[in-house]
Amino acid sequence: MSVRDAPRPALPPEACLDFVNTRHWRGKPQPTETLHGAADLLAWAAQHAGAPPTAPGPGLFEAGIALRELLHRIVSARAAGERVAEADLAALDAALEAAPMRRSLVAAGDGYAWRTQPGGPERGEHASGAATLLAPVLWAAADLLAQDGGKRLRACANPECRWLFVDASRNGSRRWCDMAACGNRAKAHRHYLRTKAAKA
Ligand SMILES: [Zn+2]
Repeated sequence: MSVRDAPRPALPPEACLDFVNTRHWRGKPQPTETLHGAADLLAWAAQHAGAPPTAPGPGLFEAGIALRELLHRIVSARAAGERVAEADLAALDAALEAAPMRRSLVAAGDGYAWRTQPGGPERGEHASGAATLLAPVLWAAADLLAQDGGKRLRACANPECRWLFVDASRNGSRRWCDMAACGNRAKAHRHYLRTKAAKA
């Protein structure tokens, strides 16, 4: 069995955002980057996407980051209520074609995983193996879009934060990544402006 047909876990659809959010504080002049090289990418994929150990091929890191930024553009468009750009949709399709395909269940540990079969020939930007490495993330992103069109995708209302999340609130009104962080910071800031205005 090779990396290209190794069993892989199913991720909840929103888990694709964990990958997108590996770069955060995206509204700041210097966003926080947590993936600095192929070793970081491989470790992330092993921990979050059940990737078997692999030696990084040439261009793997760059292609993996390109896939992350592709997913970022796609989910950001949906979070803003916009349609996904045709070119981005075509690029996601090409990555899904190159990624291993979900075929049947196989016992794994005390649970189950997807038995996969190799996807299309990995050519061009997918020749690096990034689509294979990140296959469960790509499936999750496609599942997210196919489920309800990504209608509940949101970006944190803090313009510096822009953390992406799925709004699971009943009335679909969640605005912050985390009330304790961005929500309270915004409230405190409004309070500060009010008291400053009152004192002036
Ligand atoms: Zn936030």
